[in-house]
Amino acid sequence: MWGVATRTSELRVSTRGDADVVEITAELQEAVAASGLTEGQASAFVRGSTAAITTMELEPGGVHDLRALLDRLVPVEGDYEHNRLNHDSNSHAHQRASIVGPSEVVPVIGGRLALGTWQQLVLIDFDDRSRERTVVLQVIS
Ligand code: ZN
Repeated sequence: MWGVATRTSELRVSTRGDADVVEITAELQEAVAASGLTEGQASAFVRGSTAAITTMELEPGGVHDLRALLDRLVPVEGDYEHNRLNHDSNSHAHQRASIVGPSEVVPVIGGRLALGTWQQLVLIDFDDRSRERTVVLQVIS
């Protein structure tokens, strides 16, 4: 087949905030299956400036270590202009989200996401409260 076709869907995710990690691998794989795509790319993008999407080995040790790393890099308490100028409390969440990034693109091969065996796709919500998130899923041939 020649040409480019794109199929877009949205996923709603409830989070608890404070670096809550929610796996979305199955949802993106379902979007690939629904599209009928066998070769191409699938992407997941979270709307909002205090959440991120990445891949990781999703097990308690890895989650703990990633949270500890981000606590060291970007402490919750800090001298943050965003908080001062906006009377806000979540500058750490904005900075962590920027570092990790809002999206991932995964190759699709043989109708499957080309992830490693111990590689899961996750949404991480860094905000300091629970949130309802929208993740835009796109499958591109
Ligand atoms: Zn803010």
